[in-house]
Amino acid sequence: MIVILAIDALEYDLVEKWDMKELKQLKYGKTNLSDYSEPRTMVLWSSILSGKNKEEEILKIGDKEMWNFKLKTEETFFSMFNKYLAIDVPGFTQDIKYHELEREQLKKFFNKEIDVDEFDKPLFEHHKQNKEQFLKALNGDYEIVMGYFGLIDVVGHISFGLETKMKILYKEMEEIAKIAEEKADILLILSDHGMEAIGRFGDHSDHGFWSLNINKELGFIKPVEIYKLIKEFKEK
Ligand SMILES: [Zn+2]
Repeated sequence: MIVILAIDALEYDLVEKWDMKELKQLKYGKTNLSDYSEPRTMVLWSSILSGKNKEEEILKIGDKEMWNFKLKTEETFFSMFNKYLAIDVPGFTQDIKYHELEREQLKKFFNKEIDVDEFDKPLFEHHKQNKEQFLKALNGDYEIVMGYFGLIDVVGHISFGLETKMKILYKEMEEIAKIAEEKADILLILSDHGMEAIGRFGDHSDHGFWSLNINKELGFIKPVEIYKLIKEFKEK
């Protein structure tokens, strides 16, 4: 089974700093986002899935409508497989309601209607659901499973400067990576972009993260090159 553990905003520098071995796996590095005007979540995941730079197409839709963007299966690398599962993946299978919840939570937090704990709570619940679904899928008979986890991004936006808190989230992802590694023939861990601190808050950084459990060097790989990589894995 090919497994893609998609972790939104997983920051290369923190994986390195905290020496997160399960996330680093055998080979790891940064992804090259220099073809994009800004590291936008929807644009980057859609480019990864389709093997095409989707920035122009998605920006045309506009900031507000962007989250309704959805690729058809035949536009993604999943079309190469008979049995696949893509859990909560932006630009493909993510329920727009989850994105709306994130936006709503951010708005309430910045309007001081809710505190940090109230902000985090529904996001952690959503994470738990995705985790359960992902761990269950690892025991299924899929050819490829992609599990998306957005917790580090959304919690990071308001807590990235709080190192202890962020480290707990990274450790949670370490745990998920460890289980995935036991089940997967090939495990690709991927982030769309990383994050950098702005006071206690966080903003997207200009590189993403990749790692592999096999001895293969991807270098400073671009998001659109992942499609070709999955094809290569499939043909192995
Ligand atoms: Zn993102």
